[in-house]
Amino acid sequence: MSDKKMQVVFASAEAAPFVKTGGLGDVAGSLPRALVAAGADVIVMVPKYGTIASEYTDRMEHVADFYVSLGWRNEYCGLERLVIDGVTYLFIDNERYFKRDYPYGFFDDGERFAFFSKAVTESLQHLPEGFQCDVLHCNDWHTALAPVFLREFYQGLPLYERVKTVFSIHNIAFQGQYADTILNDILGMAHIPNAARQLRCDERSINYMQGALDYSDAITTVSPSYAWEIQTPEYGEGLDGILRRRSNVLSGILNGIDTDAWNPATDPMIHANYSAADMSGKKACKAALQEELGLEVRDDRPLMVMVTRLTRQKGMDLVTYALDRILSGGVQVAVLGTGDYEEPMRYFANKYPGTCAARITFDNALSHRMYAGADMFLMPSLFEPCGLSQMIAMRYGTLPVVRETGGLRDTVAPYNQFTGEGTGFTFANFNGDEMGDAVFRGARLYWDDHAAWDHLVQNAMAADFSWVRSADEYMNLYHNLHPEIDITKPEPVVQEPEPAEPTAAEAEPAAAPAPEPTATKAEPAPKAEQAAEPADDAKAEAPAKAEESAPKAEPVAEPAKKTAAKKTTASKTAAKKPAARKTAATKSTTAKAAEKPAAKATATKPAASKAAATKPAASKAAATKTAASKTTAAKATATKATAAKTTAKKPSTASAAKTAAKSTATKAAPAKAAASKTAADKPATAAATAPKATSTKTAPKAAAAKTAPAKASTSKAATSSAAKATAKPAAPKATAAKAAAPKAAAQDSSAATPADKPAPKAKSVSAAKRTTRKR
Ligand code: ADP
Repeated sequence: MSDKKMQVVFASAEAAPFVKTGGLGDVAGSLPRALVAAGADVIVMVPKYGTIASEYTDRMEHVADFYVSLGWRNEYCGLERLVIDGVTYLFIDNERYFKRDYPYGFFDDGERFAFFSKAVTESLQHLPEGFQCDVLHCNDWHTALAPVFLREFYQGLPLYERVKTVFSIHNIAFQGQYADTILNDILGMAHIPNAARQLRCDERSINYMQGALDYSDAITTVSPSYAWEIQTPEYGEGLDGILRRRSNVLSGILNGIDTDAWNPATDPMIHANYSAADMSGKKACKAALQEELGLEVRDDRPLMVMVTRLTRQKGMDLVTYALDRILSGGVQVAVLGTGDYEEPMRYFANKYPGTCAARITFDNALSHRMYAGADMFLMPSLFEPCGLSQMIAMRYGTLPVVRETGGLRDTVAPYNQFTGEGTGFTFANFNGDEMGDAVFRGARLYWDDHAAWDHLVQNAMAADFSWVRSADEYMNLYHNLHPEIDITKPEPVVQEPEPAEPTAAEAEPAAAPAPEPTATKAEPAPKAEQAAEPADDAKAEAPAKAEESAPKAEPVAEPAKKTAAKKTTASKTAAKKPAARKTAATKSTTAKAAEKPAAKATATKPAASKAAATKPAASKAAATKTAASKTTAAKATATKATAAKTTAKKPSTASAAKTAAKSTATKAAPAKAAASKTAADKPATAAATAPKATSTKTAPKAAAAKTAPAKASTSKAATSSAAKATAKPAAPKATAAKAAAPKAAAQDSSAATPADKPAPKAKSVSAAKRTTRKR
């Protein structure tokens, strides 16, 4: 082991507080700081956009400039340095590409981010004195070409020999797919057969993210569940075949949240501060929020909020389908967001004044007030790589109602009425009735059992979503790529009268801490807010079913005796020795994944969920198990009927994880039987309080190796076109049938395709989804 620190270059198209359009900006804004705290040296590379506030640009220091070749072009690249909280930021400066009014959405995005990726790779030769890059960590499609350029253009240079590449998928729906003419014109790679083949996704297109998946030494995504979901045709967006082939280097590491910025005890943006020990401020926050939004100020109405992009991904089809039932059943709903579903939300706000409010804007301060003032937070996503909002909600004691997918599944433990365990309310299928049932499970608990509700709130607030856990897992990953570098955290120095030899950490301190504040977040200027409550009172239709209707004015009693705070996430990685840390980290996510199905099952059939949680199993095995346990009757039937579609169960010949991407491209495809979650999204019919048959998990089956049924594979196109048709529904009810439509899987033949054949073809039907910008 050397004394060298792990030195990481972290490349991202966004990083808060400089530029943020969503979760990627949050992650790149906080993970590097956590990595520094975990003992790494980190440089973050971000484009120097024209929108970065002058309070930052004024303090940047020009450290280098050089030219970057891009096809026939030779482009200027400046490096501007800013150090904040021990993290060095190097801004890639080229005004032609980046001095624009917003980060993405231009006709030449393909060229802009090819330049960014090449500039990042080239910059490794121009790093500050003493910084020798061990790991180049790239994020999403904007940086996906860096591992490709690195291996094809820079591999021979000694400086680059030691650089290992990590590629993180934050959202696989955005891949960077372009006409293949740019292979020659911009990338300058048409003459390199390996690169041309591995980037190509169909006869006319290339795909940046696909290149990164083949060329990177390790691949991560932002939650364990999403890591296995994207290996299925249903969630893989055409890249599932490659991900199955490379599953030996793929892992899921949960994002964290900035627990300082999101802290109800200190948050200056909320009406009253509160903590798990004293929740009285939360009541005041709720009343103030109801007042502010024009809702009836009543504590006997559960207030459910959404803070989100109003898109299909976020489950807005289900919301518009179920809102009549929810609002007329006595639950208040407030939505903050912008996107495709603005009109339906205005419609409901008009129809249910005093009960429903819509704020069609992006407003960070209001989002804080909504997280603090609400009782429940709705997030019924179609897919969710990780999701930050549900974690923020839990931190504010606002119980999430989520669909069990991706990071939502990994962070929200379903309420178990028998044991009192849980941190929220969950449902399995992308189905509006199931979502409504979950909402009313929450509402009924709020109305009927204050002690149980308060206990759940305590559970949620005690959950650990800090970055410490995730940073440790990334450090373990880096260590796997560079086992010669010790990642042991420095022991706290014990004060001795006669100081002994300096520790390694003291001898080699981290980059100089900077005095700069990290205060403001870059966010779009809010649009003028919509008047949510019109005079016109088109009061609700028929009242909801008896068990869902609002209770008689039943003031919520003083919270029952507070229950002891209880950690619900097994996340503390105590051991700091590399090997031990790895095991601990793996266990924590594995235990959680393993626990979910069992815990859920106990909601209808008491079962020993704790036992499942303690099973130390390899995370992949757990994922497969979990997937298997999701099997529904419908799926089983469909799977049987389509046995012919079974993915080849060939034994894997892929070798160890640390093999360079190029060499793995020649290995045979492992027959990772990714558990294909199929379409069994039957519309629910039962009353709100009745437990769903579909929410009861069947026993895990070894037969998870079956692939998506043919029946399912034919319906994806239909589903996707339905989605487009409902992007702006005139009448929200019209979306109902579509919301309940089965989600299906497009079959990707690449699952069993040896890697030395041409790269798997992406499906043209979903090309539109693979747009190249975040919003
Ligand atoms: P995404 O898929 O959009 O990245 P995440 O849940 O990971 O979803 O992160 C969304 C972040 O953006 C959260 O911090 C959330 O509070 C914030 N956000 C989303 N919409 C709005 C809005 N309209 N106003 C303020 N903040 C918002």
